[in-house]
Amino acid sequence: MTARIIDGKALSAAVRAEVAERVKALRAQGLQPGLAVVLVGEDPASQVYVRNKAAACEKAGLHSRVIRLGEDTTEAELLDLVRQLNEDAAIHGILVQLPLPGHMNTAKVIETISAEKDVDGFHISNAGLLLTGKPLFRPCTPYGVMRMLESEEVPVRGAEAVIVGASNIVGKPMALLLLAAGATVTLCNSKTRDLGAQTRRADILVVATGRPGMVTGDMIKPGAVVIDVGINRLPDGSLVGDVDFESAKQVAGAITPVPGGVGPMTIAMLLVNTIEAAERSAATMLPTTS
Ligand code: NDP
Repeated sequence: MTARIIDGKALSAAVRAEVAERVKALRAQGLQPGLAVVLVGEDPASQVYVRNKAAACEKAGLHSRVIRLGEDTTEAELLDLVRQLNEDAAIHGILVQLPLPGHMNTAKVIETISAEKDVDGFHISNAGLLLTGKPLFRPCTPYGVMRMLESEEVPVRGAEAVIVGASNIVGKPMALLLLAAGATVTLCNSKTRDLGAQTRRADILVVATGRPGMVTGDMIKPGAVVIDVGINRLPDGSLVGDVDFESAKQVAGAITPVPGGVGPMTIAMLLVNTIEAAERSAATMLPTTS
């Protein structure tokens, strides 16, 4: 068997086209949706991510404001900037690109972003809302995975879903979204005993560990849907996921490639979160009829 390849690029283009339509509708009401992206320092990967996010915004008709700060910016200066953006009516979404330089307290910076503008969905109150089943913003990567499963018509209700990797930004919110959609969820981490025994039970297997090629074909149930969140750059410059694509595609029913799988969906869902924030803001500005 050779797995069906899930085309994240094509799906992300479709999602971005939907966003562009929603942007047009808001503009017709006189509201221009805007995203602020803050980059501190010179990290090369972060620079690429920020460029891609800004370009995706512009393409969809969203206004993007990229603010680049030097590595030596103080935490107090960054917090001041975030507070200004919180108050800025032209900005509906605020994203502070991670990782931040070591002298900054990342949690404090994220908690300073207004929860209503936290389009990454990392703010503690957004994490709490997701946990309690009333999400305001869903973190972009797991949100993108859910959108992929939906578009591929993968049955989630009642499915065995196994997630390898339990970070706050991918694994944990992924578990909550799958659980909310009716899956029976197992969340694995680096201490999991006999990882293969867990992964082989999965109808839906999501891998997000940052360990290149760690999930191999023999760890996959025949016919499973395999979602590879990993993005790892090898010394030869190539990009690979956390799943060994060649052996996995012989066993899986469907699989995401790297690149061209989850990555493009993450950016598309950032645009979705921004348009959702702008639409909520527009709704609060509508004149009342009474
Ligand atoms: P983190 O390093 O924050 O978390 C990694 C998780 O994987 C931890 O929970 C860790 O366990 C677990 N883990 C590590 N090794 C193993 C192992 N051998 N067996 C089982 N679990 C293991 O990573 P992120 O969640 O931030 O990122 C994961 C990957 O996803 C990276 O490759 C990253 O580049 C990529 N990524 C891709 C995105 C996209 O848009 N496609 C977006 C975000 C991330 P423990 O908790 O025990 O330490």
